[in-house]
Amino acid sequence: MAQNPGEVLDHFNLFRQPEYVEMLTNKKKNFENPVPDQEVEKIRDWTKTQEYREKNFSRTAVTINPAKACQPLGAVFVAAGFEGTLPFVHGSQGCVAYYRSHFSRHFKEPTSCVSSSMTEDAAVFGGLKNMVEGLANAYSLYKPKMIAVSTTCMAEVIGDDLNAFIKNAKEQGSVPQEFDVPYAHTPAFVGSHVTGYDNALKGILTHFWNGRERVADEKINFIGGFDGYVVGNIREIRRMFDLMGIGYTILCDPSDTWDTPTDGQFRMYDGGTTLEETKLALNAKATVSFQEFCTEKSLGFCAEKGQEVLALNHPIGVAGTDKFLMEIARLTGKPVPEALTRERGRLLDAIADSSAHIHGKRFAIYGDPDFTYGMAGFLMELGAEPVHVLATNGGSAWQTKVTELLESSPFGKGCHAYAGRDLWHMRSLLFTEPVDFLIGNTYGKYLERDTGTPLIRIGFPIFDRHHHHRYPIWGYQGGLNLLVKVLDRIFDDLDRNTNVPAKSDYSYDIIR
Ligand code: SF4
Repeated sequence: MAQNPGEVLDHFNLFRQPEYVEMLTNKKKNFENPVPDQEVEKIRDWTKTQEYREKNFSRTAVTINPAKACQPLGAVFVAAGFEGTLPFVHGSQGCVAYYRSHFSRHFKEPTSCVSSSMTEDAAVFGGLKNMVEGLANAYSLYKPKMIAVSTTCMAEVIGDDLNAFIKNAKEQGSVPQEFDVPYAHTPAFVGSHVTGYDNALKGILTHFWNGRERVADEKINFIGGFDGYVVGNIREIRRMFDLMGIGYTILCDPSDTWDTPTDGQFRMYDGGTTLEETKLALNAKATVSFQEFCTEKSLGFCAEKGQEVLALNHPIGVAGTDKFLMEIARLTGKPVPEALTRERGRLLDAIADSSAHIHGKRFAIYGDPDFTYGMAGFLMELGAEPVHVLATNGGSAWQTKVTELLESSPFGKGCHAYAGRDLWHMRSLLFTEPVDFLIGNTYGKYLERDTGTPLIRIGFPIFDRHHHHRYPIWGYQGGLNLLVKVLDRIFDDLDRNTNVPAKSDYSYDIIR
């Protein structure tokens, strides 16, 4: 069916026209080697069984729908958090198109990132020429203050040496000798986006800190880690630190980069940790990270430089925020101000108001290691049960820590942590041990459709809902935001399940 320029149909309606329905049916019949519907249903039913779950959990050779992305994505995130910094990925264009689109779809903002455009010849002979030309072009076209280099699979497989390449490019005049070009190898076939975050941040700290003498001061460095709520969260952390009256440096702050105003001016770079702040951050008394499993190497490096380091796990809710604030109070000697104590009380009040609706509800959670840990703790605070906690990029240390957390509360009884498992494993869990709600990123909508488990979108990426990243999930205010998000879905579901007239609508209440 040809489109009519006077009434262009969206794809919702276009592909429901008889011509398309017929075409798609014929395509299935003639080209897709279809098996009878009955057989499909039979196998589908079998994949919901305990027998299939056991087979699924014993698979070793394949990963299906991993809840993670590759290392360079995390490296690009880090670069976006520094003043005037252009992320430069040594590798192929397609990978970089993916990083740009992933961030742009989540934050609904353009994300600048360039590649060295390696193709077949570079894969055979090495990518030095691409680095030399790429740095020169990026420097003269986009006028950055710093270029932060990372790598894709291709560059790592052929073993390109970033240190030597960047030195070589500087010698050939691609960028001035003194121009800042920190780098990190980010092999995409190991680890995940959180490993890439860690490597890239350590690369920038190493670039600015090595060779300098540390003169300790009283400031605190703060690292948020890879975080889809960075726009809201970093602003919330700044607000809390300002209320406490402490001196601090946020190491990697892309909150302005991914939240530029519409005022007629395109900002390729906006905000970010300044390069001067980054240098001086060496002198900080301590570095606090909100993501233990996302910043292991960076924190290790800070400790080597003589700083006290503190690793938390996404302080979500009351206990997580209490711990964070008490540690900051200990480190700085500044008391927690009354304003924050009152916020705590308000969150507790909200929890108490709604506990009857959350208490005893069963949840499955998936996402990054520190997020799932924090979220599981918050759910138990609410009296809910985090029955399945899954992190594809979680390791054995994460699994042990989550297991200890679950064992510390009666609401964690019968709940389990699954490290290194993917969303196809989660599907088996949802069919064989059903829960009331699923918490995860946008990809969970397919699990919702498949298993009937209502999805509460919390995580990264969120592509099919807008602006969630503007609202913090950390601190007492963040806890309140999460509480509302969870409650809204519980009430939506309650309404949906009680709205049949004269059948179930005796519970279709105005007041919940
Ligand atoms: S996994 Fe490798 S090929 Fe795929 S986007 Fe990441 S770097 Fe590129």
